Amino acid sequence: MKVGMIGLGAMGMGMARNVAKSGYLTGVYNRTVNKAQSLAEELNVKSYQEPEALAAEVSIILICVSADQDVLDMVTAITKTIKPGSVVVDMSTVSSATALKAAEMLSAYQVDFLDAPVSGGVEGAKNGALAMMVGGEPNILENVKPILASMAARIMHMGEIGAGQATKAVNQIMCAGINQAVTEALAFAQIQGLPMDKVIDVISGGASGNWFLQHRGLTMTNESFAPGFKLALHHKDLKICQAMADTQGVALPLADLTVTAYEQLMAEGYGDEDISALYRLKYHPSI
Ligand code: NAP
Repeated sequence: MKVGMIGLGAMGMGMARNVAKSGYLTGVYNRTVNKAQSLAEELNVKSYQEPEALAAEVSIILICVSADQDVLDMVTAITKTIKPGSVVVDMSTVSSATALKAAEMLSAYQVDFLDAPVSGGVEGAKNGALAMMVGGEPNILENVKPILASMAARIMHMGEIGAGQATKAVNQIMCAGINQAVTEALAFAQIQGLPMDKVIDVISGGASGNWFLQHRGLTMTNESFAPGFKLALHHKDLKICQAMADTQGVALPLADLTVTAYEQLMAEGYGDEDISALYRLKYHPSI
């Protein structure tokens, strides 16, 4: 199986390295071409100048780009050269509607599609320990599972195309609530002058322990907000969740609160920081 990877951002870099380790990776494409060139040199694989060139040479295409239109742009590009019988696996976080649209575009070329968004952060991408939620035909998933298993410790088939992204929306709503809870609680701790390393350590071992506290607790309280997961990307995800909730008549007050806070932070120029930058709105030592 020849595999090509499109999108070498914070997530895609680690994912591509793990696919290469498993011996499947043929080549990579990234919009900013020099990133693809240096990774290709490191991994001893090919670097392509265009997604069309990648699609012409491989039969499995992995995508991890930012947002809905970016996925559709990449799918449009690869349809020019993709071979019938190929499989496209999109690991970006986008809407279920985009997954369905991408699948429809590709089916005209006898190409199968899986939506396979992931959770686990850049650490999970680096360590091949992501949780992956997949929509599409189960037999197609079985065929590509050895490749996906190089990136993910847990791979769950969720249903038809779009079900992976619908599950990821659930994750993103939860992530908003956790971000609100952890940033607020740690700001409260810091204002009391508690030793933050000990606070994070002891609470991580109790009933409130969670991934975000463990991986972002200390950095946020040291006012270091390097991504990680860019705040503007989580904002994009929550807008998808809001649109889905609107059509179902469901209220998402925590997500709404988080969207408003992120919009304030983005207006102040913090959109490219990690989502833990929400701490900026919680911690006011002068009060
Ligand atoms: P990132 O670091 O911002 O990287 C985005 C990648 O997409 C880059 O390779 C970028 O290329 C490419 N890209 C953006 N627009 C494009 C376009 N129009 N055409 C072609 N390529 C384009 O983002 P990330 O953190 O890797 O996230 C990627 C996806 O995974 C997003 O959907 C995100 O929501 C999701 N995700 C992220 C995390 C996380 O913790 N970071 C966790 C789970 C899921 P350039 O290098 O040229 O900019």
